[in-house]
Amino acid sequence: MSRYSAFAIAKNALSYHQGWERAWAKPEMKKEYDAVIVGAGGHGLATAYYLGKNYGITNVAILEKGWLGGGNTGRNTTIIRSNYLQDSSAAIYEKARSLYETMSQDLNYNVMFSPRGVMMLAQTEAEIRGYKRTAHANKLQGVKTEYISPQKVKQLCPIIELSGPRFPVLGALWQPRGGTARHDAVAWGYARACSDMGMDIIQQCEVTAVTQSNGKVTGLQTSKGSLKCKKLGIVVAGNSGHLANMAGFRLPLESVSLQALVSEPIKPCMDVVVMANTVHGYMSQSDKGEMVIGGGTDGFNNYTQRGSFHHLEETVRALIETFPMVSRLKMLRHWGGIVDVTGDRSPIISTTPLSGCFINCGWGTGGFKAIPGSGFVNDTALNKCASSPITAP
Ligand SMILES: Cc1cc2nc3c(=O)[nH]c(=O)nc-3n(C[C@H](O)[C@H](O)[C@H](O)COP(=O)(O)OP(=O)(O)OC[C@H]3O[C@@H](n4cnc5c(N)ncnc54)[C@H](O)[C@@H]3O)c2cc1C
Repeated sequence: MSRYSAFAIAKNALSYHQGWERAWAKPEMKKEYDAVIVGAGGHGLATAYYLGKNYGITNVAILEKGWLGGGNTGRNTTIIRSNYLQDSSAAIYEKARSLYETMSQDLNYNVMFSPRGVMMLAQTEAEIRGYKRTAHANKLQGVKTEYISPQKVKQLCPIIELSGPRFPVLGALWQPRGGTARHDAVAWGYARACSDMGMDIIQQCEVTAVTQSNGKVTGLQTSKGSLKCKKLGIVVAGNSGHLANMAGFRLPLESVSLQALVSEPIKPCMDVVVMANTVHGYMSQSDKGEMVIGGGTDGFNNYTQRGSFHHLEETVRALIETFPMVSRLKMLRHWGGIVDVTGDRSPIISTTPLSGCFINCGWGTGGFKAIPGSGFVNDTALNKCASSPITAP
C-alpha cells in the first residue's frame, strides 16, 4: 500500500488523481481463517489491527452485516475523555486517549483527533463533590484533569449561560487533552491498515449461526456461506445479545437506542466539548460548523436505530437552558444507534463458555473514546486467552 503524504498528493495530481489505489480491498470470503471478528465497527477493526500488529496474526476475516463503521462507530458524537473515577476505567480510557494522540501517524490516516478539551459541568452540590473527588483520583492515576471555577468555564466557553433557570453552573471537571476525532476516519484508517496486512474485510455479510463441536467454536454460517475458524471474536455492540444467543450463552446486557442530532452549520463559536450531565445534554462544534448534540438513552429496549421524540425534546430543552443561542438554530438531522448497556456501565472483554470464542461488548454510550485501547487489550484476550494487565481484575 502506498503511503499518504503531501508528496503522494502532488504526484497523483499529475495524473488528475486517477491513480489512487482502493483504501481497502474487496476480497471474496475464504473457507477458513485463524481468527474471525464479527463486526467491522471501531472495536472489531481495532482488535484485528492489534492482532496483526502485536502478534503477527493476519489470516483474519472481519465480517460486517452492513458497511464498515455503519454501526455506532459512525453514529456517535465522538467525545474522547478519560476522566473516570475508578482506577480500572481510567486505565483503559487513558490508554485509549493516549493512542488517539498518535493514531493518525500510526495508521497513516488523518483521523482528525482534536484535543480541544472536555468539560463536565457541575450543577449540583453533589456533582461538585463528585468531580473534585474525580480530579483527585485522576492525579493519582496520572490522568491530567482539574476542577475549575464558573468564571473559568465562561472564559473557556463564552456562549454558556452560567445562571440557568433550573441549575446554575457551579464549576466543572476540565480535561484539557480530551476532545473529539472524526468517527468514520477511525474506522476507515483501521480498515485500510488491516487490509494492508492481508486481512479480509467482508461487508454485507451477516453472521446467522455459530457452529461448534465439543464445546469449541469451529466456524460460522453467514449470508455469504459458511466458513471455519479457530478463534472467534464477537464485537457487535447492540447486537451482542443475538450473537451470544447463537453461540449458546447469555450476557448481562440491555440494548437501547441512544440518539444524537446536528444543527445547521454556523460560524465557529465553541472550541471545547461541554457535557451537562444534570440537565442531560452535551454539545461540541464540528469542523464543518454544525453543533453536534447528544442526550441520554431511551428508557426501553429496542433495535430500530431511531430514537423516541420525547427524548429528543428533553435533550434540546437541556441544551437551550445551558446555551440559549441553540433556540435559534435549525436542526438538520437526527439519528439513533443501538448501544449495549451493562448493569454497572462497565465493558466486558472476556473469554466465554464457548471455547475459542471471545466477547467485547458493554461499551454502551461511551465506547468511541475507548476504541484503540479496547483493540489493544482485546487482541491479548483473543490471542492468549488472558486478560491484558490493563484490564486484569
Ligand atoms: C448517538 C450516539 C452517541 C454516542 N456518543 C459517544 C461519544 O460521544 N463518545 C463515546 O466515546 N462513545 C459514544 N457513543 C458510543 C459509541 O458509539 C460506541 O460505544 C462504539 O462506537 C461501539 O463501537 P463497536 O465497534 O463496538 O460497535 P459498532 O460500531 O456498532 O459496530 C458493530 C458492528 O457489528 C455489526 N454487526 C451486528 N450484528 C452482526 C452480525 N450478525 N453479523 C455481522 N455483523 C454484525 C454491525 O452492523 C456494526 O457495524 C455514542 C453512541 C451513539 C449511538
